Amino acid sequence: MNYHRTFFVFLVLFAAAVVLAGGLPFYGKWLFIVCAAFAGAALLKRFSLSPWKELEASLHRIKSGDLQARLDDVKGGDVRASAVVFNELAEDLAKYKKLYENREKRLTALINSVNSGLMLFNPDGEMLLANANMSGNFAHFRKDAPIASLDIPFLPQFLEEAKKSGKRQTRELKEGEKGRGRIFEITYVPLEEGNWALIIHDITSEARMAQVKSDLVANVSHELRTPISAVSSICDVLDDPAVEPGRRADFLERLKKQARRMSSLVEDLLSLSRLESGEITVKNERVNLSSLIEDILNSLEPLRKTFGVEFECHIENELSVTGDSALIEHAAKNILDNAIRYNKQNGKVFIRAERENGAVRLEIEDTGDGIPAEYSERVFERFFRVDPHRSRERGGTGLGLSIAKHSLKLLGGDVRLESEIGKGSKFILTLPE
Ligand code: ADP
Repeated sequence: MNYHRTFFVFLVLFAAAVVLAGGLPFYGKWLFIVCAAFAGAALLKRFSLSPWKELEASLHRIKSGDLQARLDDVKGGDVRASAVVFNELAEDLAKYKKLYENREKRLTALINSVNSGLMLFNPDGEMLLANANMSGNFAHFRKDAPIASLDIPFLPQFLEEAKKSGKRQTRELKEGEKGRGRIFEITYVPLEEGNWALIIHDITSEARMAQVKSDLVANVSHELRTPISAVSSICDVLDDPAVEPGRRADFLERLKKQARRMSSLVEDLLSLSRLESGEITVKNERVNLSSLIEDILNSLEPLRKTFGVEFECHIENELSVTGDSALIEHAAKNILDNAIRYNKQNGKVFIRAERENGAVRLEIEDTGDGIPAEYSERVFERFFRVDPHRSRERGGTGLGLSIAKHSLKLLGGDVRLESEIGKGSKFILTLPE
């Protein structure tokens, strides 16, 4: 209630008193007007307290979060001055709230944009905050049991140790019971007043890459060790003047074989590294498949004769594919080379090609021992051999199929294996038409 309305009420009451007092005798009239004035004064007194009540109500609105509460039409003395201060305070409060909300929005956007899981805990271990990465990357993440729901077996133990140390600590931990899942770099960060944070960074691909690199170095060293030590022993033998000239030729032949082995290994490693680098230019040309296969078979003629294997080729003359002829040749030659080397004596190699679902399906099937089904994916891994002794005996590097797979993938095609033990292996190549 403001002063205008109070005064208005007073005037109405006064006027009513004058009208009502009209029929009364003189003394009665003034007595009535005096009483009415007292009543009016009492009312005025009551109404004059209303601005304070209004102020109190507005303060309650502010307290309950309604920062729009203002006292705009309060008139008169102390109340007016207080109302002005109240309005200024409410204005400031609304401004600071807006500032705070904007800052919080920016902060939330920032922590949600981080490419790692982020959680904040109080000293009792209750989670206060978790960024979007946590629920995005952990399918079973539960806010009421954040640590247990992560399925990182050694995490609780790490936390206990880190909390005891009171210092920032980082550890690499694996997901899942047998540590077969993703690999994380987890950092415990102690904060003010006993609060602490946990940062979970997925380093699976970096760790796997590092593993692949170290495996490669170990494999290459292992592959080179045998021919190098063979070369060294042959040299020792040749150095001996007592060796008969007839045996020298034999040792020289062995020396050449080891040199060829090392050279093929280096050649294959270089091919693989070029294919994996992503820096080679892949041509997009029309390639006649039957003439390409014919060229490969011609180049493999000496090997075919050595192993006494027969080819049976059924490819339409005009069948063409699209891609880089050098890459297609490299892939198909490696597979055909294997089909001869791993075949049985006087075995056969069948080569067929046909159009299938907008691509060309090229089959290379042999009559060798076949490959166990559980290795049908692994044979395409580098240095994987089903029978390492046999592979080395036959001059294999363990890289041929890996090179074939990479070449075909670069062409937008693929290769897979269907094999039956004792019956032979069938490699199915898909090439863009
Ligand atoms: P390698 O140089 O040892 O032949 P590859 O990468 O070409 O290496 O082949 C990997 C392994 O797959 C070989 O060591 C061999 O054990 C097996 N393999 C490949 N092709 C055949 C095949 N046609 N028949 C049987 N085994 C094969």
